[in-house]
Order: sequence, then C-alpha cells, then structure tokens
Amino acid sequence: MEVEVEGIVLKETLYSETSKILQVLTKEFGLISIIAKGASSYKNSLRSLALPFLYAKFIINYKKDKISTLKGGKVFKLYGSGAKDMDVYAYLSYLCELTYKVLQENNNKEIFIILKNALDKIDDGFNKTVLKNIVEFKYLDYIGITPDLNICHKCMNVTEPFAIDGKIGGFVCNNCYTNERKVQKDFKKILNRYQDVDISEIKEIKISKENELIVNEFLKEYYVSFSGIKLNSDKLIEMIEK
Ligand SMILES: [Zn+2]
Repeated sequence: MEVEVEGIVLKETLYSETSKILQVLTKEFGLISIIAKGASSYKNSLRSLALPFLYAKFIINYKKDKISTLKGGKVFKLYGSGAKDMDVYAYLSYLCELTYKVLQENNNKEIFIILKNALDKIDDGFNKTVLKNIVEFKYLDYIGITPDLNICHKCMNVTEPFAIDGKIGGFVCNNCYTNERKVQKDFKKILNRYQDVDISEIKEIKISKENELIVNEFLKEYYVSFSGIKLNSDKLIEMIEK
C-alpha cells in the first residue's frame, strides 16, 4: 500500500553496499522501519531523504510491522543544518536516541509531537538543556515512571519539598533531610512547569542557572535509577555540560 507519512529520521543503519534502513518516527504510525534502496550512492534520488535528524514527508510502500520501502518524498527540514554551535548535534543525537528507546517501550504517536516541537525550539536557538529536560520529563509518563512530586520519598508523607534526590525518586522533607540537594520553596512549581508546558507555545525560557542544573541533575539520576534506559550519546552531553 503506497502512503504518505510525515516523520523524523531517528536512526540510520547501512544495509548492503548501497542501501540504508531508517528508523522513522511518523505522525501517522509512530516508529516504523523504512528501507531506502540505493540511498548510500551519490547519484541516488533517495539520498537526501535518508539522513539522520531529517524531518520530511516520505512516500512509502507501507508494510505494517515490517520494513516499509521508500519511494520518494519531500524534505521539510534537516535539524541542526543551520547551527553555528556544534553542541547542537550532541543534543539532537541524545534526543533521537532517547526517543528511539522510549518508543521501544511505548510506540505512542503523541511522542512525535513532543520530539518535533522540541527539535524546532532547539533549531530556533532556545536553551538546549532545558528543552532536553522537558522532553525527558514528558517521556516519563510514556514509560510509566512519572515521579510523585507531592510526597517525601523517605517518610512517604505529603509534605513541603525541602530537598531533592533523583536516586530516591523525588523530594525529601525537612525532617528526613540528610545530604540531598536543597531546593527553594517554589521548586515543585518549576518541575510541574517542565511536565505540563506545551513546547510549541514556548516564547522564552526563564530559569536561574542554579535551578536549571538541579533539574538536569535530578533527571539524570532519575533515569539511571528507574528507567532501565541506557544511551550511548549521554557521554557527549556530559562532556558539554561540564
Ligand atoms: Zn520525610
């Protein structure tokens, strides 16, 4: 069945001498595999459609739960191509790899919108760490490990947050505090904003550097402790963030 889909290439794998298999997150079907025959050779017309971080319309011969075949398409945008700052590629790699892993657990079509909106904002030059963290926060719902931000994760009482620790899963109250990272009173509101914000509506990002780092550190620890997701590209991000 020949169909048109709108999608973002998350990953490419070389296949035979000249072909590529693409992992494409589509608006219509979620994650699908597409073979681009001959796309590694310079003269091939599919070459410009078979690139990582590409957002495009793909005309494919669609096979449900199998590998679809690329017939043609139209390039909308190659994320990162206009970037002056090379760090952008590390964030694109990280977000595409994370998205691929999340889709293995939940091939939910809503994820396309989250990723596309975030990549658009990164392309527009918005704070990359904050956008990465917003995406990470939103993905927790899809992998079923949304943190409970209303309780102290040591005594389990509903309390005011005093400190935070990703390894134990969230906030710690005043009574249970030992050596976790202290937070301001309104910190829960900040985290709620990361969870709820519609990325496409973001006009500016206002957050103190200190809070930005606490959120980033929290999510890093939380993913390691609770998600079971391991990425290759997180080393790159860590190098940049140091
Ligand atoms: Zn407590």
